[in-house]
Amino acid sequence: MTATPARITAVDTFDVRFPTSRELDGSDAMNPDPDYSAAYVILRTDDGDGLEGHGFCFTIGRGNDVQVAAIGALSPHLVGRSVDELCADPGSLNRDLIGDSQLRWLGPEKGVMHMAIGAVVNAVWDMAAKRAGQPLWRLLAHADPEWLVSQVDFRYIADTLTPEDALTLLREGRAGLAERESVLLERGYPGYTTSPGWLGYSDEKLTRLAKQAVADGFTQIKLKVGADLDDDIRRLRTARAAVGDGIRIAIDANQRWNIGEAIEWTTALAAFDPYWIEEPTSPDDILGHATIREAVAPVRVATGEHVQNRIIFKQLLQADAIDVLQIDSARVGGVNENLAILLLAAKFGVPVCPHAGGVGLCELVQHLSMFDYLALSGTTENRVIEYVDHLHDHFTAPVLIRDGHYTAPLTPGFSATMRPESIDAYRYPDGSFWAADLAGQEGA
Ligand SMILES: [Mg+2]
Repeated sequence: MTATPARITAVDTFDVRFPTSRELDGSDAMNPDPDYSAAYVILRTDDGDGLEGHGFCFTIGRGNDVQVAAIGALSPHLVGRSVDELCADPGSLNRDLIGDSQLRWLGPEKGVMHMAIGAVVNAVWDMAAKRAGQPLWRLLAHADPEWLVSQVDFRYIADTLTPEDALTLLREGRAGLAERESVLLERGYPGYTTSPGWLGYSDEKLTRLAKQAVADGFTQIKLKVGADLDDDIRRLRTARAAVGDGIRIAIDANQRWNIGEAIEWTTALAAFDPYWIEEPTSPDDILGHATIREAVAPVRVATGEHVQNRIIFKQLLQADAIDVLQIDSARVGGVNENLAILLLAAKFGVPVCPHAGGVGLCELVQHLSMFDYLALSGTTENRVIEYVDHLHDHFTAPVLIRDGHYTAPLTPGFSATMRPESIDAYRYPDGSFWAADLAGQEGA
């Protein structure tokens, strides 16, 4: 008797929202009232092992219903598929989803549909790592370089990065892996914190949190800027006074400016020695970033959390438009596309400092940076993962920060699993928190 191979039986989606706008956590110049949300997906199987694949997109509130619907639209590609085949080759699913011609019309490879693809592809990687009994960073770092290359879609980037280039980078990146892995397990991966710098916080709260960040071992903090120049000068002076000269302060405008304003504003803040200016303008404006970079040096230019795909990253690198490349675990088409982006960054020698925060983005992206360190870039110099200290307790294996460093997670998977009780409470609009909240609003 042959056992029937395990299949995907369901793609369950959940609209999970947290009421973060009430504390101004996460407030910046473009997003004054975010409700941090996850369009969450669970891939279920008929395998007796009970292992599910978990993934999500991060949104900031009302867009979440659109995002959840987009994930649902991908379900026919998943249901009935062999679990073994999916886990052995997540790239095959990635290509099928990107190639769905009717859905591709909505992109291609950008926006809501592409983020939905990222969520389900990441869920497959979560399942693959769980079934391998490995945290994803370790699965990737020890994977055969040829197999990793097979996971990358080189379409539209092969003029700049060929499969042969990628193989060379991954083979060379392997040297010294064992030593680096022991350093990683001992020390962790450096982080920086954005928690002191939200735009809605008072100067007193900024000072207190900035000092706390230094006491907690962080060597870099970040401030939101771009709403009012006089306020920004005062806030940056306040932050610099709180942390002293040895600590890096990055600033983040969240796409607020035109090119000229970005240059003027950054120049006006240069006296406080900002380390990088993040998202000075539209993430689509490659040449604009190059112009800004030339004008504001030595302040570095960083972007990436809203960069929609590997092609835009390729052009940002080709145009010498960025000093710091900020991958996001849940914006592009999942791990496969982020492998392409990490390889592009390695080829150009540009450091990767991931965007994180939101809901669960720290949990996910740490795996990609740890892979990058172990098996590609080989260094953590000038590389830091963003850290924001909220909403971690909703995950079954939350990130663990020690002395300003991300501790390497040892739980098998992609650290994407949200606690079932959190989903039950914050599912919108019928979870227990929102049902009570909405009833209260009606009563008032
Ligand atoms: Mg940012």
